[in-house]
Amino acid sequence: MKNVRTVKEIIEPQYVMEGAGVLLRRSIAPQVTNRFDPFLLFDHFAFNDPAEGPIRGFPMHPHRGIETVSYILKGSVNHRDSLGNAGIIGPGDVQWMTAGGGILHEEMPRRGPDGIIDGFQLWVNLPAAQKMSRPRYQEVGDETIPVFEKDGCRVRVVAGTVNSLHGPVTEIAANPVYLDVTMEAGSKFSLPVPEEHTVLAYIFDGKGIFGDTAVASVKMVVFGEGNQIGVQADDSPVRFMLMAGAPFGEPIVPYGPFVMNTREEIQQALADLKDGTFVR
Ligand code: MN
Repeated sequence: MKNVRTVKEIIEPQYVMEGAGVLLRRSIAPQVTNRFDPFLLFDHFAFNDPAEGPIRGFPMHPHRGIETVSYILKGSVNHRDSLGNAGIIGPGDVQWMTAGGGILHEEMPRRGPDGIIDGFQLWVNLPAAQKMSRPRYQEVGDETIPVFEKDGCRVRVVAGTVNSLHGPVTEIAANPVYLDVTMEAGSKFSLPVPEEHTVLAYIFDGKGIFGDTAVASVKMVVFGEGNQIGVQADDSPVRFMLMAGAPFGEPIVPYGPFVMNTREEIQQALADLKDGTFVR
């Protein structure tokens, strides 16, 4: 039976400074309560005023126990890491980085030709058994992300399966769906989702009816229980990132760029950083 999810909570993104003074719109952040399990953090690059001066970015910093997912709409992000990887994430590209047991990396956003940088970083948790796994990258170019267009909806499938289209990002522990959905005024979108999955939508352009609740950008919507997501665009187009994933149901201890299961594991991460054994 179809059971369309209603909106449980609407989150107002808050401006925060991160890295070397980068302004971000943050919707969720890692907390011991782990309310959005398996999702930990969602940041929106929001420094779109060229008068703000040069973007200083995120100089070398560590991660352990999580996956970071960068998705760029405009501008780009130059990155390099302690394993010797380097590259540029451009418009439409995604980088899904499994930090696992430890990585040190640098992320430097750059404005596009129109002076704008627009994009998102999502953090997905790793289950205890994979927190110390080998770091892994899945870098996916704009052209390899499948797009499905139907009845006024345009859906880019970054991860998961929609209308038998498979997103290029695979073998992620949370079995997530991550979509970029653009809807014309007057269109409808629906997606079956597993009952047990946490489902969030980040509405960053326009407005629409999510479940039975009208929501205007910019907001993060947390869906309640059900096996179906339904969105309707009435008199306005709407665009949002949709994420669904299986909760791990494990305790978490977040500390800055680390998310582990115990305090001892956080202390270990700090000790490893100090004595130079963080990256194996
Ligand atoms: Mn990072």
